[in-house]
Amino acid sequence: MSRHLNVPIFIPHLGCPNLCVFCNQRTISGAQHFDPAEVDGQIAQALATTTEQDTAEIAFFGGSFTGIDRELMCCLLDIAERYVQNPMAGKARVSGIRMSTRPDYISQEILEILSRYSVRTVELGVQSLDDAVLAASARGHNASCAERACRMLLEAGYEVVGQTMIGLPGSTLQSEIATAKALCELGVQGARIYPTVVFADTALCEMMQSGRYKPLSLDEAVERSAATLRVFEAHGVRVIRIGLCASDNLSDPALALGGANHPALGELVRSYLYYQNLRKLLSRASDPVQQVEIPARELSLAIGQHKQNLLRLQAEFGAQLKLVASDCRAPKIYEKEKEHCT
Ligand code: SF4
Repeated sequence: MSRHLNVPIFIPHLGCPNLCVFCNQRTISGAQHFDPAEVDGQIAQALATTTEQDTAEIAFFGGSFTGIDRELMCCLLDIAERYVQNPMAGKARVSGIRMSTRPDYISQEILEILSRYSVRTVELGVQSLDDAVLAASARGHNASCAERACRMLLEAGYEVVGQTMIGLPGSTLQSEIATAKALCELGVQGARIYPTVVFADTALCEMMQSGRYKPLSLDEAVERSAATLRVFEAHGVRVIRIGLCASDNLSDPALALGGANHPALGELVRSYLYYQNLRKLLSRASDPVQQVEIPARELSLAIGQHKQNLLRLQAEFGAQLKLVASDCRAPKIYEKEKEHCT
């Protein structure tokens, strides 16, 4: 079976003079140092585990890639480009390069440099398009800067993935929904949703400990992430990740001190969205016995962990709800829901 893989190269804090209140990149990436001389070997090692049926992208994640020293940035792009142009025998074809960066590190000069390489996707750390939230989070740029960067990248033909955060200081459900809608209207093709986690040694941690910031509970984070997910899905924007990766030291209680920290957060959010949609269906139904077809691969999401969705719905409606796996692409109720959530 063929796979499409990212070969992630983490670049902790390189080139970033900012200190967003939530950020401790060394903690998040688990990396204490970065040695460019190791990158070639890291890529080769990752590709060695693939087959020629696979495809891969080399992904520079973790910092603000287009903000690092130009010489180093081009050196890293040169290394990646070699794998695009010269595939390893019998291993995955490298179809392109992707990177994450800040909106204020996108300029015409950067676009000109990127155009010399096989860069396909830029993940933009938008986080929020609410100026008050950006200021409270010490992001160092405003919403119009992020919108401008988004437009420039899209006009230059890149795929743009908008990274958004839930539960930042000053953020509300309304501002998070507005951010997701604005990104959809700008035309991003993908999104990530990161509920805020409070890491040790960050300004956010100090704010939490002094009572100036209250992190979201897990339930709040699930509900608010689901609202943002709903907007993206309604616009056909693929959400490629919800929540930080399990490798992000989330399980270390000395590092992750607060916020929405759950190893299966994405599953909880998608399951909650099913709960809401099924709830709407039942509230409109005249017949208490309902059978709903669910795409087979999503049946467990619809049922919920420990049958939570089914049990809640039965308790609320006294309904006899049957969820049946089928080869449909989306349950009918889900399609209907999309009409109402734009
Ligand atoms: S811009 Fe990115 S790397 Fe820099 S402090 Fe903010 S979140 Fe961290």
